[in-house]
Amino acid sequence: MSLQSVPQPSEALKPSEPGWLSLVKTVEQLAGAAELSDIIDIVRTTARDISGADGICFVLKDGERCHYVDENAIAPLWKGKRFPLSTCVSGWCMMHDQTAVVTDVFDDARVPVDAYSPTFVKSMVVVPVRNEVPVGAIGFYWAHKRSFEKEILGLLEALGRSASAAFAAVKARESWRESQQSLALALDAGGLGAFEVDLTDGSVKATKACADLFGINGETPLTLSALLEKIDPADRAEAGKVFGSELMPGGRSDAIYRLRRDGGLRRVELQSRLVFDPDGRPCRVSGVVRDVTERFEAKERLDALMAETLRASRLTDLGAMASALAHELNQPLAAGNNYIKAAERLMAKDPEKALDAMSKAGMQFVRTKDIIQRIRGFVGQGQASRKGENIESLLQEVLELARIAARHHGVTVHLKVETGLPMVELDRVQIEQVLFNLLRNAAEALENQPTRQVTVSAVQKGEMLEIRVHDTGPGLSPEIAENLFMPFRSTKEGGMGVGLSLCRKIVDSHGGKLWYEGSEITGEAGASFVFTLPLHLTAI
Ligand code: ADP
Repeated sequence: MSLQSVPQPSEALKPSEPGWLSLVKTVEQLAGAAELSDIIDIVRTTARDISGADGICFVLKDGERCHYVDENAIAPLWKGKRFPLSTCVSGWCMMHDQTAVVTDVFDDARVPVDAYSPTFVKSMVVVPVRNEVPVGAIGFYWAHKRSFEKEILGLLEALGRSASAAFAAVKARESWRESQQSLALALDAGGLGAFEVDLTDGSVKATKACADLFGINGETPLTLSALLEKIDPADRAEAGKVFGSELMPGGRSDAIYRLRRDGGLRRVELQSRLVFDPDGRPCRVSGVVRDVTERFEAKERLDALMAETLRASRLTDLGAMASALAHELNQPLAAGNNYIKAAERLMAKDPEKALDAMSKAGMQFVRTKDIIQRIRGFVGQGQASRKGENIESLLQEVLELARIAARHHGVTVHLKVETGLPMVELDRVQIEQVLFNLLRNAAEALENQPTRQVTVSAVQKGEMLEIRVHDTGPGLSPEIAENLFMPFRSTKEGGMGVGLSLCRKIVDSHGGKLWYEGSEITGEAGASFVFTLPLHLTAI
């Protein structure tokens, strides 16, 4: 008989029937089953009442065999035994995913007579227990031959369906537990602690690794204030948001905070996200935390090293520019001196002209002051810090200084900047250094060249800003181009060959790329060094 032809409980059973009442109670019990053994227990103790059968068996599929796990019968059946699926009625029921109805065990081809002859069984019904596919069966046995009305079949199949639902719930709980265990393992392996804050009552659940990371031992109750207490006061207010409903837009947050533990200062990275209830209200914040002190300190050391290298490289640049700078400063100083001398001469006969000469001298000295200030700014300590910058003003500033050196070598520098470029988030000192290195290389490549032109251009390409430094020099031979960005490769006498490798590191750390394009790519004679920077679309 197929499942479709079995009447549903609503049409098969009337509420007053005792079997139906027992079934309702059993369904309630099954709903609370936590383990497979609970399901088996419940079925064993209730199935006979529901069905009025002389015996019942709970059978589980065990590979290609039926395992008679438990029974409750007037005389022993097959508890603990296993039979091939193809040789028993519960096997047939599972393989066909159908109820097996046997009105006479000695007159049904599916019944292995040898297994049944020693028992009291004369008739039976076996219903499948399924998760997605049949996983077991419940057998109901009678000590006499009988037919089965649709009402009784409906009742038995309803029990089979309830046991199936309970089975699915147990399996779901098991796989949830397993995934929790794998999650815990993965968290441990990644040195991560996990926490969850219930926004309705502020209670906190956290893994041991999380409590350890915060330095909270078993005696202190794990509360939100106990966690925040450990965060350095300077970061506490910000960190408080990570545990609350005011997270960053998008309901996520990821930041590093200072934490005081064991008398020392640690850095922890907190990542959290808001969880919403079915009505869309924030109900929980769950997140992970990890100790990043070592990584943080290594990065700080690296940044300090990079800043120092930059400074050293700037001083070298200035050293190389010394004569150009001296010349650049001499010009306004000499001009200013001349104006002062003229003013002295004019003082008596034409005070008005003398005054004019004095103010012209003043302008020359301001020019000198500007140049010195620019040099000071260029050599400055240069603490790494990123903020939104206007790229055009940055380019103009670098070019001012670079032009001093370039003019000295008879090189002209042009600037082409696309209008309306968005702000770019960058470390000004570092990007200035990249440009300065590229410009210095270009100027050096132009020595003894008939045309000495450098063009710096900036355009937006999608979400990136592209800056190109093109010179009309000889370009690079393939051998030099091949390992161009490796440190300590220089074709210059006294060249360090670290300029381009440092430039690439800086650009990389900004999330951009730096590369070389020769005339075979650009179609123009000379060398092009191109770099990109991600545009953070902050309004200009
Ligand atoms: P350095 O300038 O100290 O040699 P870099 O890393 O800045 O170190 O440059 C490495 C080499 O790349 C240079 O020695 C030079 O041969 C070559 N190079 C760099 N820029 C250019 C350019 N614009 N034109 C031709 N060659 C260049």
